[in-house]
Amino acid sequence: MCIFCSIVKGEIPSYKVYEDDKVLAFLDIKPVNPGHCLVIPKKHLENIEEIDEEYLSHLVKIVKKIGNKIKNNLNVLGYNVQVNNDPIAGQEIAHLHFHIIPRQKNDNLKLFPQKNYNSGEAEEIVKKLIKE
Ligand code: AMP
Ligand code: ZN
Repeated sequence: MCIFCSIVKGEIPSYKVYEDDKVLAFLDIKPVNPGHCLVIPKKHLENIEEIDEEYLSHLVKIVKKIGNKIKNNLNVLGYNVQVNNDPIAGQEIAHLHFHIIPRQKNDNLKLFPQKNYNSGEAEEIVKKLIKE
C-alpha cells in the first residue's frame, strides 16, 4: 500500500495539522522550511488528472486554510504551493499531494531556472494549447 494511504489509515504516524472526512494535512517529514505541510486527498488518487473538480476544489480550499494558519500562526510572510504532478515532475510518492512551503527571508531557495522562447515557438505552443 502507498505510504500516504498508510498515514491516512493511521498505520504510519504523522504530525497531523488538519483532518476531515476527505482531506488530511500533515507536516512533511523533511521540511524545506519549518512548517512545510502536505495536503492530500484521503482517497488514493495519483495526480490532478485522477481527482474530480469538486474534490480538488475542496482540497484547494484546505490548502488555503492551512496557508492562512502558516502565515498567521507561524509568523511567515508567504509560502509556495507546489504539486509535483507525475514522476517526470519529481513526484516520488504516487498519491496526489500539495506542498505548502513557508518562505523565510534569505532561505536561499532557488525556484525554476527560466528560458527564452525561440522565434515562433510561443505561437505554436499557444495554437496547441487552445485546441480542445
Ligand atoms: P514528492 O517528491 O512531491 O512526491 O514529495 C514527497 C514528499 O513526501 C517529500 O517531501 C517527503 O519528504 C515527504 N514524505 C515522505 N515520507 C513521509 C512521511 N512518512 N511523513 C511525512 N512526509 C513524508
Ligand atoms: Zn495512497
